[in-house]
Amino acid sequence: MPIVVIGSGIAGVSFAEEIRKLDPQASVALLTRETLGYYSRPLLSHGFSREDIETRIVMKSFAVLAQTGLRVESGAEVLRLDRGEKTVLFRRDGREQTIGYDKLVLATGSAAFIPPPFLAQAGMFHLLNSLDDLIILRRLRESVSRRFGQPRWAVIGGGLIGCEVAADLARAGDRVVLFHALARLMEKQLVAEDSASLLEILREVIGVEVRLDQAVQGFAGEEYERSVQLADGSQSGFHGIIVACGFKPRKELAQAAGLETRRGVAVNQFLLTSDPNIHAIGDSAELPDGRLYAYVTPVRSQALWLAKHLVAQTQDTWPVPLFKPKAKIPGFEAAHPYLV
Ligand SMILES: Cc1cc2nc3c(=O)[nH]c(=O)nc-3n(C[C@H](O)[C@H](O)[C@H](O)COP(=O)(O)OP(=O)(O)OC[C@H]3O[C@@H](n4cnc5c(N)ncnc54)[C@H](O)[C@@H]3O)c2cc1C
Repeated sequence: MPIVVIGSGIAGVSFAEEIRKLDPQASVALLTRETLGYYSRPLLSHGFSREDIETRIVMKSFAVLAQTGLRVESGAEVLRLDRGEKTVLFRRDGREQTIGYDKLVLATGSAAFIPPPFLAQAGMFHLLNSLDDLIILRRLRESVSRRFGQPRWAVIGGGLIGCEVAADLARAGDRVVLFHALARLMEKQLVAEDSASLLEILREVIGVEVRLDQAVQGFAGEEYERSVQLADGSQSGFHGIIVACGFKPRKELAQAAGLETRRGVAVNQFLLTSDPNIHAIGDSAELPDGRLYAYVTPVRSQALWLAKHLVAQTQDTWPVPLFKPKAKIPGFEAAHPYLV
């Protein structure tokens, strides 16, 4: 029976390629709901200022991945894990199928976190978490430009992704208001002095209108004419709203199968879940120190380490690599190390 991998982000693809490289006889199946290929998620936040992004962002098509001997099931939504039978149930082209495994690797990544008060208003705003999201947003932007001229956006959330997206839209020529709930930007990653210099660059150089200390309560309006409701009134006149309030590890499959979960899928230092045949890597995995290593360097390191661990039966635990996150905002360099 094959090794089954769920997810075709950097975790799933790096693991699947590496294990086939280390053991060319390994039978490996990669299941993913994606249809457009293996793409660079960090590049999503340059998705508006670069014209050729939709083609440049795809690093490998699924056909190319399959040529390496991997079985790739794209457009496959994984529905359930049966740990007793050691099978995975998935739906593809409207048909439910199962695949058996000896070892299962959960590389299901993360979804965008939507603050609970916004959940009932899902049709009012957009997210930027996947290539499908980017394509939808690019179409909206084109349609707005054709009909009304310069697009006007509200971006909710002044964390890493909110700041990057706001900067990219402004650089692409759009008007952007960035609403952040707290008194300074990227407070989880930057010291106060660096938050202040980021604020200055966004406002003075890139041209984003930044509104700090803004508790957004919800949204209102019609298509192309949205408003943001604030504690002290509302601000209207947006063609679109993008919510960028953090990420949420995808642990639902694991949880439903009775695996131990906390914020993410709980793993030990060998990236092993509470089931001896199931590992978890990438944005969805939570280490015993309570941390999620949701950046490409540690995620890829987990994937390569796990492939070696399974093939060579190594006994050392996963060593957390040194990594330095960096906001991709032109003109901004933090003077102090990021708080990771
Ligand atoms: C806009 C943006 C910018 C970023 N910029 C940076 C950056 O500059 N530097 C950095 O280090 N990190 C950055 N990150 C974070 C980085 O992209 C992630 O840490 C990394 O992509 C995680 O990889 P992953 O493989 O764990 O998860 P993902 O990339 O989330 O992949 C998970 C895959 O699993 C699939 N999947 C999930 N559930 C199912 C199911 N039930 N059935 C079938 N398929 C399923 C998903 O469709 C997806 O393809 C950024 C993230 C975003 C969203």
